[in-house]
Amino acid sequence: MTKWSVEEAKNIFDLPFNDIMHKAQTIHRKSFNPDHLQVSTLLNIKTGGCPENCSYCPQSAHYKTNLEKTRLMEIDEVVKAALHAKEVGATRFCLGAAWRSPNKKDLDIVCEMITEIKKIGLETCVTLGMLNDNQAEQLKEVGLDFYNHNIDTSDDFYEKIITTRTFQDRINTIENVRKAGIKVCCGGIIGMGETNQDRIKMLVILANLDIQPESVPINKLIKIPGTPLANQENVDSFDFIKTIALCRIMLPNSFIRLSAGRQNMSDEMQALCFLAGANSIFYGEKLLTAENSMPDRDINLFKRLGLKFLQLNNNDSMINFFNEKK
Ligand code: SF4
Repeated sequence: MTKWSVEEAKNIFDLPFNDIMHKAQTIHRKSFNPDHLQVSTLLNIKTGGCPENCSYCPQSAHYKTNLEKTRLMEIDEVVKAALHAKEVGATRFCLGAAWRSPNKKDLDIVCEMITEIKKIGLETCVTLGMLNDNQAEQLKEVGLDFYNHNIDTSDDFYEKIITTRTFQDRINTIENVRKAGIKVCCGGIIGMGETNQDRIKMLVILANLDIQPESVPINKLIKIPGTPLANQENVDSFDFIKTIALCRIMLPNSFIRLSAGRQNMSDEMQALCFLAGANSIFYGEKLLTAENSMPDRDINLFKRLGLKFLQLNNNDSMINFFNEKK
């Protein structure tokens, strides 16, 4: 695959808005049906007390955010939540745990959770922090489909956001996941004080991985009181949408997930993000510890836009989710 340079990517990002949108939508239509959305549901299975210091995260033990810490959830509770997710139309069930890296006992339990979720007929994704190659292989053995580990931002800006682990640590985990044969879910966060150049550079790093991530979550910072980024300035909406468009152009076959921050976007902004090539969302009331866009509002918006939920293993057969809900 051709490697992208930052300059090439910047030239595209700097195109007039209508031109970059047209380019992104044209590329989007080559790989995807533009009216289909992949839907995931995310469940936090262990909240808070994380030793890492990610500046945006209320789960970090470094910040006082009044978040209630929880122990690892019981397997049957997780299965119940997965059954509900399937019922409302999700095809992928994602589990998040606030760890630097999972210990042996916890990883064994998460593996059991994955086995049970797979039996329900859902794809599985987990985000558990850093993994070594043995841990990645253990997850592969139980059939894990995706591992989420974001690079968050450019390598240049990274140290302003996290100092307890390096950018290279993140890349190492992604490589271990890839080597084990698990699909990679990897993206970043927009609005942490980074420049457009950082956003472009982050996308160049993702696009230039040996195999591009199959799933790319693009998050808009949720400003959580108590975290160092609580008073961060709002990101310009058009810069955010152009970042999605550039992501679509440079990672033409990846699902791009409009992730955290969707609840604070207008319907019109979400529609422009979908036009720019975003084709995946989290559906449900919660995103880890933050509020997500409410399901009723989502259903109403997707209906107005004529968007349908993508069904697993049979891309030609789409249910009309909204009609079924009537
Ligand atoms: S983002 Fe993940 S690793 Fe960072 S503090 Fe939050 S839970 Fe921990």
